Amino acid sequence: MPVHHSAASYCLGIESTADDFSVGILSFDGEVLANVISAHVPEKGGIHPREAARHHAEVAGKTVEDALQKAKIEPRRIQAVAFSQGPGMGPCLRTGATAARALAAYLQVPLVGVNHCVAHIEIGRLVAGAGDPVTLYVSGGNTIVSAFEAGRYRVFGETLDIAVGNCLDVFAREVGLHPEERMPLGAVVEKMAGEGQNYVSLPYTVKGMDLSFSGLLTAAIQLFQEEEHRLEDLCFSLQETVFSMLTEVTERALAHTEKTEVLLTGGVAANERLQSMLNQIADEHNARFCVVPKEYALDNGAMIAWTGILAYQHDMTVPIEKSFVKLKWRLDDVCVPWHGG
Ligand code: AMP
Ligand code: MG
Repeated sequence: MPVHHSAASYCLGIESTADDFSVGILSFDGEVLANVISAHVPEKGGIHPREAARHHAEVAGKTVEDALQKAKIEPRRIQAVAFSQGPGMGPCLRTGATAARALAAYLQVPLVGVNHCVAHIEIGRLVAGAGDPVTLYVSGGNTIVSAFEAGRYRVFGETLDIAVGNCLDVFAREVGLHPEERMPLGAVVEKMAGEGQNYVSLPYTVKGMDLSFSGLLTAAIQLFQEEEHRLEDLCFSLQETVFSMLTEVTERALAHTEKTEVLLTGGVAANERLQSMLNQIADEHNARFCVVPKEYALDNGAMIAWTGILAYQHDMTVPIEKSFVKLKWRLDDVCVPWHGG
């Protein structure tokens, strides 16, 4: 049975699975009062878990303080503290969990362990107006096609190796592109792709409902090194290939489940070419296409706070001494009793 609370209850959520440390505060009726994100930008190369964790530890106190100030609420109004319990990088998860445990103990409120992938879907349902969608979740660390069925978000398809965001980032780095002001590497690839038009053939790897990106990444880098094609054309071809793969699997999940909505989320959701491909298949199946706005599609604390509220209302809290992080916690391991569909 859901527990009932007055409207003036709030949940504070902490996100720290990878390179971002973020704190969100939501009211129990779904109003976002704060969503403060502190991103760790590595000086070079990819994300180093221990360096990212050090960043999280440094900014944790200030980020919590900023969020409370922005929300303009007294800390004692906070009814629960939620944190991303997994999946993610061990040192990063543990740093967020430590902050969450300290805060829950200090405020004497329950702690809620939230699955990061569930949170991406729940915030999409809250802010993008999708009720019961087929979701394509694409980010630097995850690539999952899922839909709700019999109490859980089932995984219809996923990557067998690297995530699509990682594929775009590694390609960009290998060919000498750099992140620009307010522009992550994936967006830099998107900009270049807009100036390409000649399709160069790349391995298209869909196995059943699963996807593989590492072979085609190697092939794309090799083509660049052969110096026979313009970089713009390679970016264009890389995008067309990986997004077609994602769209094919999403379309099949849509046809199979007969859902009437498609939800796109995760950092890569910002890509307009991907948005347009999904919009088209949604149209063909008489489904509505919904995309999560960037602020809530990237890793953020608001989604953790919101999912924390849903779980808390179903008594899914965790005692501090059992609140270990779960590095490989799967989306389809989580019961979702609050989902009506
Ligand atoms: P996240 O893991 O959710 O924080 O998202 C970060 C990922 O999203 C990185 O791999 C980025 O390169 C990617 N990304 C951000 N903007 C875009 C874009 N416009 N097109 C493609 N990928 C993007
Ligand atoms: Mg991130």
